[in-house]
Order: sequence, then C-alpha cells, then structure tokens
Amino acid sequence: MQFSDIKAQRPARDQLAADYSQLFSLLDSGASAQAMQRWDVRRRETDTWLSLTHLHFSQDTAHPQYKADREYADQIGPVVTEFETRMKRRLLAAADGQNRGPLPSHLRALWHMDISTFDPAIAIDLEAEAGLEARYTQLIASAEISFNGQAYNLAGIQPFLQHVNRPTRHGAALAMWKFFQAHADELDDVFDRLVKLRTKMARVLGDDVFTPLGYRRMHRLDYGPSQVENYRNEVLKHVTPLVTRLMDHRRRENHLDELYAWDEPIIDPAGNPTPAGDQVFLTEQAHGMFEQIDPSLADLYRQMLAGGFMDLGNRPTKAGGGFCTSFPNVGMPFIFANFNGTHHDIDVFTHEMGHAFQNYQSRNQPFMDYFWPTMDAAEIHSMSLEFLAYPQMSRLMGPSAERYRRMHLKAALEFLPFGVCVDHFQHEIYNHPDMSPQDRHRTWHRLESLYMPWRKWGDLAYPASGARWQAQQHIYRSPFYYIDYTLAQCAALQFWRLSNADYPSAARQYVDLCSRGGSAPFIALLASAGLKSPFDSGALADIVREAGEYLQIGSS
Ligand SMILES: [Zn+2]
Repeated sequence: MQFSDIKAQRPARDQLAADYSQLFSLLDSGASAQAMQRWDVRRRETDTWLSLTHLHFSQDTAHPQYKADREYADQIGPVVTEFETRMKRRLLAAADGQNRGPLPSHLRALWHMDISTFDPAIAIDLEAEAGLEARYTQLIASAEISFNGQAYNLAGIQPFLQHVNRPTRHGAALAMWKFFQAHADELDDVFDRLVKLRTKMARVLGDDVFTPLGYRRMHRLDYGPSQVENYRNEVLKHVTPLVTRLMDHRRRENHLDELYAWDEPIIDPAGNPTPAGDQVFLTEQAHGMFEQIDPSLADLYRQMLAGGFMDLGNRPTKAGGGFCTSFPNVGMPFIFANFNGTHHDIDVFTHEMGHAFQNYQSRNQPFMDYFWPTMDAAEIHSMSLEFLAYPQMSRLMGPSAERYRRMHLKAALEFLPFGVCVDHFQHEIYNHPDMSPQDRHRTWHRLESLYMPWRKWGDLAYPASGARWQAQQHIYRSPFYYIDYTLAQCAALQFWRLSNADYPSAARQYVDLCSRGGSAPFIALLASAGLKSPFDSGALADIVREAGEYLQIGSS
C-alpha cells in the first residue's frame, strides 16, 4: 500500500445530498442494517478526503490548490456534520426504544453527545470558526524569525532555544517573542472572535457559556469540570512542589544566580542530548527499537516506511507541530512531524507512532466511531510509547540514552503544571466570555504564578505581560483539549512504573489497550488496562514519589 495511491472523492454538496437521501429512504423502508453498511462506506470516503486535505495543507500551507481544498473542507465540514447528525438522530430514535438493539450503549452515548453539539442554525458559525483557526495556523506557519542574520520558522528556531550557550538561548527567545509581540493585535483579535463565536454557538444550543459544549465536543462521558478541577488541585499539591525543586536544582546545576525562562529548557546541565543521527539514521534505527517493544508495532512501521506514510522533515511553509492522521477507507495511519535535530525528534517520533499503532490495531473495530478513542485516552497510547521506548533508547541516542531518559522524565513531570494551567485558563476564559484581551493576559499571568511559581521571564516583555498562551496552538484550535495530555501523562507515567517492574507484562497491556481503541470511555479504558484513574487521589502521589526517587530529588 502506497500513500500516493490513496484517493478519495471530494464530497460535492449535491452528491452528499443524493447519498443521504438514499440512506434516509432505506431507513424509512426499515432496512437499517443495509443503511448502516452503506453509511459506513460514505463516511470512510468523506473522512479519508478530509484527512488528505488537512494533511496536504499542513505539508505546504502556501500551496494554492491545497489552500483552496482546505477552504472547501472548512465549508463542507458543517454540511457533512449536518447529514451525519441527522443520520445519528434517526438511528438513535429507532434504537433508544429497544433494550438490546444493534447499537451498543457506548456508541449511543457518543452519538447523543454528537447530536447535542450541532444544529443547522450554527452551521455558518462552525465554518467561521474553522476559518479563524486556519488564520491562526497560517499566521504561525508564516513566522519569519530573524536571528543571527538568518530567518527561521518556529520549528527552526527551537534548537537555539535550548542551545547550551546561554546568550544564544536568550537571543533566540527574544527573537521569537518579538514575532508574537509584532502580531499581538491579530492574535488577540482572532482569539476574541473565537471566544465570542463559540459562546454564541453554545447559547444557540441552550447553554449559557461554551464550557459544557466544549466538554461535549470532547466526548467526555465519564467525568466533568469538577473532577477536572480536583485533578488540577492534585497537580498543584503534588507536582508543582516537585517541579519547583527540580527548577531550583537546575539553577544550581547550571551555576546560575537566577533561572530565567530561557534557562528552563536546559534540563541537562551538559546541554540537552541530541539524537545520535539525522532523520535517515533515526528511521533506520527505529526498526530494531519497535521490534523489541512489540513485533506487530515493527510490522506496522515497516509498512508505513515502505508506503511513504511519514513526513518527518522541517521545510519552509510546512505547518508546525506533529500529528497522526488516518485514512479509514484503507485503514492506514500517517505521521507528520518537523524534525529539527533536537531530542524533540525522538519524543515526537515515538509519540506519533503510538497514535498510529493504536489506530492501526483498532482498524477492525465494528464501528468507525471506535477507530480513535476520545483524546484523553488516545494520548495514553502515544505518551506511553515514549516511556516504553526507554530501554531501546541507546539505538537512537547512542551513549546519551540515560541522559535522554532522565531529561524526558523530567519534561513529563514539568509538563503537568503547564498543562493544567492551560486548562484552568480556558475554563476562566469561556466562563467569562466578556473579558477584554487585557483581562485574558492578566488571567494567564495570575494562573501561571499559581501553577508555575518558579517562572521568571526577565526581559522577555511580551510573555512577562501574560501572553505565553498565544504560542499554544491548542488554545486557539482545540478548546479544552489540553487537559487530555495531562490526564494521559498520568496514565503513561503509570506505564513507566509498570514497565520498570515487569516490562513484558506492561508491553502486553499496552498492545491490548491499543486494540480496544475507542470501544469504551476514558475511565473504563484505564480500568481495563489496570491503570488508576487520574481523578482518584493517590494516582499522582505514587508517580511523584517514584519519579522523585529515580531522579534523586525526592525531598529538598
Ligand atoms: Zn498526541
């Protein structure tokens, strides 16, 4: 299977209307099994086209055709959602009266959430929302950061932000934030429009504010804002003190009077270790690594490599970040990244392969809705693979393997306070939609001081004023997504503990969890893998204790 052979027809409005009218006729005539089957084919085709379109645009945000297709996808997306919602409503109406129908209760619960997030009256707002999100993406992708006489994009500047030379790091950070400051008005304006638009949609759908709609969009079936608030408090109680000690340790290790924001990325005092080779080297070495973790993972990797299902290099006009997408009409995933020669290449590689493996393992689940779990659970597969790769790390990092492991573990812990801060910020923003841009910056500033009390911005005036959040694309593009990474990190750190005790059993549990895909909600999936819910007090305390011992920073 070659990536270049994948084709999917651009869904024309007329064709969609004709196809769905046939599906509704089948339902009218009582042929619901046949309707389900044909609908599945229609959905796979549409989803594959949407995935291809978003991927192509990310591969080259300046390509006129890709841009035009992306704009068309933004327009047609709400039309597709409207048809799918009608179909789900019809199937649910028929199924809800029956105790044991063809639709399992989890699928029904997912669809009930879906139908509650859409109404034709908001179709035009959804299109506008997608347009604003794309504006943010393009603005960020177009960044030209002048540094040392060269122009870099945001991925390209990253190696300098963690350079072992302090003035280089500081200079790179100044240059990067200068770009954000230069676009401050646009960044505030795009976000203001997004908040108002999302609030307006929530009100059309019967909520006062966007938060409940945001939760339903994320398909949160077995927890709500109060459990999330508890979890944030647990992070504040257990993790913030540990990370504060880590930062103080870092300051002393690096012989610094003050640890400024641009010093924080130097997790290893000898300079963060870099991969033992370039992209070609890493993709070659990964064969052996994946083979040792699980043979089925290695098998998928070989297929992806041979079929061109990866785009890992950094290029001008390529969108930033890393992600995994998939093409359900052929059952293959694709991973996208921006390798830049830092340890992030390894993090992103193992992370996105975790997503790809889960999606592939779940490709024969009985419903398309189960191919991916909800994002909180989906990030468990990706983040856990980062930890399960630890014993194989010398293949990619050479003699720096142990330094990588320590650095990665510290980064995983340091991420938690930041992650919950992003989440808390979004709750404040959407629960108070009339805040001014200045209020939003003040809010970030207040929360940053709470969750990350060590943070010192020095002369980086823009983030010091409370603007750090504008560099976090999820805040613009995926509201309320960010907590999912922290919840999943809590599960991934449990896999780290399990794999320390009994690697083969941890790997088996991991593969089984991947195969279950999205066939259950978050807490149920955790329980099925023998993992503790992050919402139970104690889950974080155990992790923090073991990590503190491993890193020898258990207490000050
Ligand atoms: Zn991910």
